[in-house]
Amino acid sequence: MDNYQQQDLVIRNGHIVTMDAEGRRFQSADISIDKGVITGIGAALAVKGEVEIDAKGNAVLPGLINCHTHETLLRGLTEDLPLMRWLDEICFPKDRAFQAEHQRAAALMAQLELIRGGTTTFIDIFRYPDEAAAVAEVSGLRAIFSPQLIDEPAGAGETLESTVAFIEKWNHRVPGRIFTWFGPHAPYSCKKETFLKIVELAEFYDVGIHTHLAESYNEVEQFIAQYGMTSTNFLEELGVLSPRLLVAHGVHLNAQEIQLLARRDVAVAYNPTSNMKLASGVAPIPELIEAGVRVGLGTDSNLSNNNLDLFEEMRVGATLQKLWRKDAQALPCEQMLRMATSDAAACLGLQDKVGSLEVGKSADIIIVDLHAPHMWPVLPEPSSNIIEQLVYSASAGDVLTTIVDGEILMRDREFYTLDEDEIENVVHEAALHLIHVSGLESLRNGRKG
Ligand SMILES: [Zn+2]
Repeated sequence: MDNYQQQDLVIRNGHIVTMDAEGRRFQSADISIDKGVITGIGAALAVKGEVEIDAKGNAVLPGLINCHTHETLLRGLTEDLPLMRWLDEICFPKDRAFQAEHQRAAALMAQLELIRGGTTTFIDIFRYPDEAAAVAEVSGLRAIFSPQLIDEPAGAGETLESTVAFIEKWNHRVPGRIFTWFGPHAPYSCKKETFLKIVELAEFYDVGIHTHLAESYNEVEQFIAQYGMTSTNFLEELGVLSPRLLVAHGVHLNAQEIQLLARRDVAVAYNPTSNMKLASGVAPIPELIEAGVRVGLGTDSNLSNNNLDLFEEMRVGATLQKLWRKDAQALPCEQMLRMATSDAAACLGLQDKVGSLEVGKSADIIIVDLHAPHMWPVLPEPSSNIIEQLVYSASAGDVLTTIVDGEILMRDREFYTLDEDEIENVVHEAALHLIHVSGLESLRNGRKG
């Protein structure tokens, strides 16, 4: 008998990037995990794991956090349309025909992809949250579900009643791992009264609110024409702006709105690929950060991205700002990695639990392969270039292992909680069915070469 302390899991020989407040990094070090929590980080930990993973000098970092996505099914179906036409012609007809079985397939696909790409926490704003949450219960991912509530057009989203029923059912069902929020789609698609009720109920249940804000120029113009004020000021009047609120996009915010969001401590999700693809614009991210706003990174849905790869999102998010501002120093790589880890955790109110590797925090950890030519050279401390390589050179396919709450969801690219082959069949059957019932077949058939 040795006197090494027994732990559930030990990861050995990793190039550890903690993303803690001091930005500590360790070369060839270990992490011990017990009962889902990180118990030690350091060189040659004197512990014994029930399971031991040799990281082989690969990068070990906090699992990535996706601050805005919709678990949608019809990726790559109809492309290259402007936002409002895309919403009216594709999204809303499809969403009206959308059924629970479609959501189950979409959630299986999305969560398999998230695990594959090293995302350990995500917030989903979409339909049939019961189905999506049931998938998360099995997948092992940490998730927030904010049922997408739409008043106009009717039938395209969830309702206040269905949202409250979902929150009642799921709020405490998987404590600390599955969370329920409110998800009013946008100021232009939800009624004033709905927002007022949501503010009250969010406080009652002590949950967050997720919505879209100032995504496209047309939307902003139309909103001002109709309401005589910006959507940010509209939400302020209704009392929606608070630390509970996470807004997606914020592309077209003026200086007054940025200050207002900062004053109310509203968090913003930056979705650069979606903003580029839908020609929405470039969000004023450096200005928001400068004003003190919490900013996290999101992929948006697989319809407007088209993947859920937060590595790609970090690279695109940085390079877009550099190009747009003609400033190669805009959004440096360390900031991008924070936006996908520690800052993202703060956007979701989970900063005490996840977002960095620290003793006492939940063991949401990923291992990224550094033994690949596109990641070389990997330089030793103290001149390590590991963050540069993770942000500018890596992609989802480089993730080897994904762990949430100390539970292995994928190891050496093998899934532990979900069945990839089964999901592939489920997704294709459900997608064909949804295309058929939403009448999008004719749209595809009528499509010009
Ligand atoms: Zn969105």
